[in-house]
Amino acid sequence: MPNENTPLLYQYPEHLRHTLETLPARSGVYIFYGQDQTFPLYIGKSVNIRSRVLAHFRAVDEAKLLRMTCNIEYVETVGEIGALLLESKMIKDRRPLFNKRLRVTRKLCSLRVDDQTTGIVFSNELDFSTSEDLFGLFKTKFAAIEKLRDIADEQKLCYGALGLEKLSAKRACFRFSLGRCAGLCCGKETRVEHQTRLKMALEAMKVRSWPYPGRIAIEEKSGQQTEYHVLNNWFYLGTVSTLEAAKGVQTATPHFDRDSYKILCQHVFRHQGLNITLLD
Ligand SMILES: [Zn+2]
Repeated sequence: MPNENTPLLYQYPEHLRHTLETLPARSGVYIFYGQDQTFPLYIGKSVNIRSRVLAHFRAVDEAKLLRMTCNIEYVETVGEIGALLLESKMIKDRRPLFNKRLRVTRKLCSLRVDDQTTGIVFSNELDFSTSEDLFGLFKTKFAAIEKLRDIADEQKLCYGALGLEKLSAKRACFRFSLGRCAGLCCGKETRVEHQTRLKMALEAMKVRSWPYPGRIAIEEKSGQQTEYHVLNNWFYLGTVSTLEAAKGVQTATPHFDRDSYKILCQHVFRHQGLNITLLD
């Protein structure tokens, strides 16, 4: 994102040329440091660290980051899953200055919908990894309400029944008179019919419960190298090089982690052929 401090003229970061030569053309996580080696400026991941960093060098809108960068370090991983999990953990732990999506662990919001009720729940009050009837993972309550409102408009649901507006007793809501509510508020449809339409509209956003009895180790291989990523309740615990060591990786304070959840749903469960071992 260019701002008044960013010259629009592209300049190759000559002072980083030496660093580039040390970077491997392999998967892993890379870290840009400024003068203070303890405080990262940027953390990224790639299946090819060297070419990804080269792409940063050519990006005009990253001139400021590159000017401030003095050194680039990296951690190799066996493959893409390890790189994704490690990047997500490092960004949370180290909070780099330039990462736009600063994925700090925080409470998430979800819609809890059953045949009778609709509510908004928070991950610090409810264990999302074992709860049924949860739909959507939202960063704010506002975002959850917006989604609910969109679906209500689309499906002619009653704002009153959803808690989006106050309903006066025994009277149809205002949207019913406009033809925008199918009439749960005045007995034109049943609560189950109403909730069923809502659940169907939310189906693609259903939050999956953790499908294992406890911890798992996901095996990732490349050539002669193998890594085991240990997770529990969608929470990433760490990566080790043997199954024996994986058994010793214990659960930290578990809390629902949106990044690991997404990484597993998008990159692990969708693909066949990955070896998953139950550890508990
Ligand atoms: Zn209504």
